[in-house]
Amino acid sequence: MEKREQIYEGKAKKVFATDDPELLIVEYKDDATAFNGLKKGTITGKGVINNRVTNHMMRMLEKEGVPTHYVEEISERETIVKKVSIVPLEVIVRNISAGSFSKRYGVEEGIVFDEPTIEFSYKNDDLGDPLINSYHAVALKLATREEIERIKELTFRVNAFMKEYLLGLGIKLVDFKLEFGKTADGTIVLADEISPDTCRFWDSKTNEKLDKDRFRRDLGGVEDAYHEIEKRLMGD
Ligand code: ADP
Ligand code: UDP
Repeated sequence: MEKREQIYEGKAKKVFATDDPELLIVEYKDDATAFNGLKKGTITGKGVINNRVTNHMMRMLEKEGVPTHYVEEISERETIVKKVSIVPLEVIVRNISAGSFSKRYGVEEGIVFDEPTIEFSYKNDDLGDPLINSYHAVALKLATREEIERIKELTFRVNAFMKEYLLGLGIKLVDFKLEFGKTADGTIVLADEISPDTCRFWDSKTNEKLDKDRFRRDLGGVEDAYHEIEKRLMGD
């Protein structure tokens, strides 16, 4: 496996081509952004933690029968993944009210839902990732109805597994964002990352925030929170 030219640099990761047209290398950075890139900073060591945590989750999800893009972790910050065509939807699941849900509907954070909710944002930085419903996504040809149904089914399976697993480690899974992609043969697979950047994690006893909200809201102890998640999931 040979690392070739960089094909994309995003807010949190760089993506490289390889000598295999079906594989990519993603490299996790310490750069942190919030509010559609308005707030910028560095979280030292974040890239290493997010690489490890994402791969740990993806490996477990594969065992649970959820197809993912994960192939192999090759260094502290780099992982080989299957190249997919990303479905331009951010798939957001919520178990507990927080963030934009609380703001939009004028409710406090911390309301535990009887059932998880799902919503989609259109992945489009110029538009600020607007909320979109599945009919609009089909109309815009972002995905077919069947693909959206499959994405929903996989997403609820990911939530059920992660929620249970994390609770066993003393972590409440408040909400999170997933991205899916299509392989060359049309299979829908889980892609991108699952990390404290893309999930809200609260300590199950104290409700202490152990995720990127510490950065977004200037709560301090950002690095410590990421380390705590890494430690609970994978040991020291
Ligand atoms: P952003 O683009 O939002 O700034 P990142 O910095 O995380 O985000 O960049 C990583 C990019 O790589 C994202 O656009 C993501 O959709 C894309 N991506 C993730 N997994 C894959 C994959 N397996 N194949 C192709 N693209 C991927
Ligand atoms: N999220 C994400 N990327 C985004 C938007 C949201 O990873 O571009 C995650 C976020 O970390 C949280 C969940 O999705 O775990 C729900 O986020 P919310 O809609 O509440 O938005 P926010 O409060 O981040 O603006």
